[in-house]
Amino acid sequence: MTDILTIRSQPSNSVCCDCESKDLPTWASTNIGCFLCIQCSGVHRSLGTHISKIKSLTLDLWTESEVASMKGNLFVNQVYEANVPVTYPKPLSSPDVNDYRKEFIKAKYELKAFSCDKLSTSLPTPKFKNVCKEEKPEKKKGSNLRKTMKFNRVEGRPTTEFEGYLTIKLKCGRNLPSRDINGKSDPYVFFGVGPDENDSTNLYAGQVVKSEVQKKTLNPDWNQEMNVCVVNVDSDVLHLECWDWDKITYDDFMGNYHIRLKDHNLRHNQQSSFEVNLENTESGSISMDIRFHSLKN
Ligand SMILES: [Zn+2]
Repeated sequence: MTDILTIRSQPSNSVCCDCESKDLPTWASTNIGCFLCIQCSGVHRSLGTHISKIKSLTLDLWTESEVASMKGNLFVNQVYEANVPVTYPKPLSSPDVNDYRKEFIKAKYELKAFSCDKLSTSLPTPKFKNVCKEEKPEKKKGSNLRKTMKFNRVEGRPTTEFEGYLTIKLKCGRNLPSRDINGKSDPYVFFGVGPDENDSTNLYAGQVVKSEVQKKTLNPDWNQEMNVCVVNVDSDVLHLECWDWDKITYDDFMGNYHIRLKDHNLRHNQQSSFEVNLENTESGSISMDIRFHSLKN
């Protein structure tokens, strides 16, 4: 029997059916038959199960007939996006456009406005804009916040002078989200430092560190120390991402967080303890101690 992750591995199913988020979809609509990102799946859920029945690809069990009935994104969009007016572009993948995302998904599946010529021409102009705060609208369609957050795909910006460095003692994770079929995950954490709290791809060159992978657990204990350099302790941001290591397919995103260093008034050799709740995910917290070492004088 073909399993659901094998179907997802087809190129058209490995992006979100609605916003084209490039991260591997982790959700699906079983009655519509498409693969979705976490944000679009949330909108589907809000429409009610009479419109869309949402299941997790990794957390839920799939029956053979549910797997067999998955039509795939290509087919679904041939039907539901047969006639999309220019006033309704696909939503960007950033959470900034969630109001527009709702309008688009509702029009697409509830009103079926894009599957029929007559209806789509009578659609009102959308109320909300498909524009991110951080991005010019013409920059890229389907740009992808979660993709840009994956540290290991970016080179980082060159920099010459560091003010000091942070020693991060990654202690533990608790109640992390499950990403594997066994209900567990194989979590690891990236840390990266950059000047911008809204852009985790804008990191100083080389200032990304990765923890060890803890196998088959949602409550990992790392107790591992890592160092990353900072250019300006009063304005730099420490970005954190938690991922599920996967031996066979791609690693799965488990949540992220960023710490604005200036909020914590870090001074030389002072230690601060953090327990942060992961964002853009279902659950989970990460505990760590951070100590700043000044290299000035
Ligand atoms: Zn999406």
